[in-house]
Amino acid sequence: MSILTILEFPDPRLRTVAAPVTVFDAELKQFLADMYETMYAANGVGLAATQVNVHKRVLVADMSEDRNEPLALINAEILEKDGQQVYQEGCLSFPGIYADVTRALKVKVKAHDVDGNEIIVEAEGPLAVCIQHEMDHLAGKVFVDYLSPLKRGMLLKRMEKQRKASA
Ligand code: ZN
Repeated sequence: MSILTILEFPDPRLRTVAAPVTVFDAELKQFLADMYETMYAANGVGLAATQVNVHKRVLVADMSEDRNEPLALINAEILEKDGQQVYQEGCLSFPGIYADVTRALKVKVKAHDVDGNEIIVEAEGPLAVCIQHEMDHLAGKVFVDYLSPLKRGMLLKRMEKQRKASA
């Protein structure tokens, strides 16, 4: 297994729209293992393939306290959305910044598992946020896109400052 490099905003590759996965082979299994390792090493709760510069519709998530409930969704599609919630989101591609984003409270998602079987996942609360956030990445969207230009500018400036301070 290996830890992959995570792209950081404003890297233009984060705007790439991912293509569906059509081959479910050992290479895909290896990639998922690397995605999990990268997410856990970075202390993240979710990671989209786009963030590691692989433009396939693959995402992983683990919102559990003990970091032992890994979820992988391949070719995820939202079938149903319900309700609304505001949740403070962060992102491994935006180190050190957080912002409130409004999203659906519940989602019902159709996806493939690593073997290519179709699965249906129903999520609510934080996991629903995470799935919507990661699916956005695969469409070339990032969470600050939802903020007002003023708020976005403020946060990005803060991120830049922190980046310089830690360099
Ligand atoms: Zn993210």
